[in-house]
Amino acid sequence: MTQTYHTIIIGAGHNGLVAAAYLAKQGKKVLVLERRAIVGGSVVTESFGYGFAVDSVFTGGSLRADIVRDLGLGTSEKSARSTRPAFISLQPDGNHITLDAESIKRVSAKDAARWPEFVRFMDKSAKILEKAYSSIMPRLPMNFGLKEGFGLMELGLALKFAGRKDMLNFIRALPMTAQELLDENFESDAVKAAVASVAIHGFTLGPMSAGTGYTLIHNWMNRGGLTPLRLPPISPKMGGEKEGGIGEITSALANAVKSFGGEIRVNAEVASIKIENQIAKGVILANGEEISADVILSSADPKHTLLKLVGPRELPPEFVWHVQSIKMRGSVAKVHLLTKGKHGLPEGTLVVAPSIKYLEKAYDAAKYGEISEKPYLEISASGKTISIHFQFAPYQLKNGSWSMENRKVEKLAIDTLAEYFPNLKSKIVNRKLITPLDLEQTYGLTEGDLNHGQLMLDQFLFMRPIPGWSNHKTPIDNLYLCGSGVHGGGGVSGVAGRNVAKILK
Ligand SMILES: Cc1cc2nc3c(=O)[nH]c(=O)nc-3n(C[C@H](O)[C@H](O)[C@H](O)COP(=O)(O)OP(=O)(O)OC[C@H]3O[C@@H](n4cnc5c(N)ncnc54)[C@H](O)[C@@H]3O)c2cc1C
Repeated sequence: MTQTYHTIIIGAGHNGLVAAAYLAKQGKKVLVLERRAIVGGSVVTESFGYGFAVDSVFTGGSLRADIVRDLGLGTSEKSARSTRPAFISLQPDGNHITLDAESIKRVSAKDAARWPEFVRFMDKSAKILEKAYSSIMPRLPMNFGLKEGFGLMELGLALKFAGRKDMLNFIRALPMTAQELLDENFESDAVKAAVASVAIHGFTLGPMSAGTGYTLIHNWMNRGGLTPLRLPPISPKMGGEKEGGIGEITSALANAVKSFGGEIRVNAEVASIKIENQIAKGVILANGEEISADVILSSADPKHTLLKLVGPRELPPEFVWHVQSIKMRGSVAKVHLLTKGKHGLPEGTLVVAPSIKYLEKAYDAAKYGEISEKPYLEISASGKTISIHFQFAPYQLKNGSWSMENRKVEKLAIDTLAEYFPNLKSKIVNRKLITPLDLEQTYGLTEGDLNHGQLMLDQFLFMRPIPGWSNHKTPIDNLYLCGSGVHGGGGVSGVAGRNVAKILK
């Protein structure tokens, strides 16, 4: 054994860093261990060549404003919101629709009139969900203590104060399909599909899947609306000209950890968690080094943490079965392009989501282990770079392997986008593809699942990561989970990391 810490945090993604910063601020001796050479997890800006720096994985979003405030990270959310780009749904006839009442009027006056009320309801629903995520969930069906009871009471009050109509509509929206929810609000298929794309972004679900009402509210909440905030509410110095920039969130967090006296080590892969008599005692790194601590937090996904770093032999059989059953269904690939000169795409968030049926068919392919021939794309374009989020590209391919199929995704992404921007292909000078297998091998996401486990109705609230273990604890004493796979995650809110710090206070 080398040194002793109060808390070791496995993984320097944003949640691990948020937990570390809060604990270090409380005066605890913390050490963060990250297997990659850089901190950030999915929230990173990486360079893939000269002039080719992009937000390599994550599309956009922002830490909760109160976390930014608590940790003294920088500017207010208000100033970041003012940089919010437009959300544009590309249309085959070239009459692209920006999602605001003015632009929607061109396709449907009725939908344009309905838009403000829909946005109001979604904003309110997002607030209620945020409250739920910030409350520590009880370990049902076990009895719950005062702390959990208080959180639930606050949640109940938030629902009550939402007003009867909104409360009912919120609860009703959760199990609905995005299609049903949007059918009740709009008549234009193009408008419905544009919004529905947000419901399926990052999930292996189609707009006709039950529970995409919930995922729409989840993504709406994490993005602070329709479009992801491209710039974190952290760094006032970053302007629109700089490409990428999401990595500023995690570098600010890493700086906060250090400023509170915490330590961060990169290139430090944890190979196993040292356990004696069902109590976590420390970690063993891949290079054989042992480090002890009173408390171990893991921000790696629950499957990786519990099945690999702990190991089934240390855990009750039924618990192991539940962890093995967590649905991890990564089906996202990223294609980044560097262009010579201006690429001609409008700045902002663009989607290829022309109709509900188009999106559902794109998802159908994933159900059968195939890559969508006509994919749903979300594109962030700025300066000379274009980042394409591609769905669906399932981790588990029915035929072939990712080493054989990777170029297919790249070609489909570029061909699909070039249908809307015919000059695009001639301008591409460099490209970088990230497959679901890369998400697993490079970014540490088991089965390429962005959120460390799908957000589905049987994997949310008190059922996340598994029923009966929703309060960050595990059957191993002093071992806690704090990444996106637990209640409060996924997405880049920092809530899962903060919730665990509340428990350990
Ligand atoms: C392609 C993509 C697009 C996305 N788009 C959106 C979006 O638009 N909106 C949204 O809200 N969310 C989105 N997400 C999801 C969001 O980025 C994640 O939910 C979130 O970033 C996860 O943060 P985390 O800190 O919990 O985990 P991670 O960011 O996964 O960090 C975990 C860290 O642990 C490290 N680690 C793992 N195992 C070990 C080990 N054994 N030893 C040491 N270190 C280890 C990993 O290297 C990693 O750095 C997207 C994610 C991806 C991948």
